[in-house]
Amino acid sequence: MTNLDQVELSWWQRFVLWLLGKVYLGHCQKPGWSGALPFYAMKCPKHGVYIDYPHGWNNYFTCPQCQDELVQFSKSIMASAEEVTIHAKET
Ligand SMILES: [Zn+2]
Repeated sequence: MTNLDQVELSWWQRFVLWLLGKVYLGHCQKPGWSGALPFYAMKCPKHGVYIDYPHGWNNYFTCPQCQDELVQFSKSIMASAEEVTIHAKET
């Protein structure tokens, strides 16, 4: 497994993914990592299949697209908060 962005799931992996919501793909080490981590194909209810490895102490997985949306959302909140402050100063 060299390119994680172009992983072809076998019918068996698709079946396990459908059954359990995640399927183990294999261990992979990215540049800068001290060791290899297990990679899984997961299913996001919104964006479909994505590939991730466990994060943090509680080994959580995040859909990269959901994370992007969250970042965009918090940015828009920050932007509107700034607008409010600016507006408050004007009046
Ligand atoms: Zn998602």
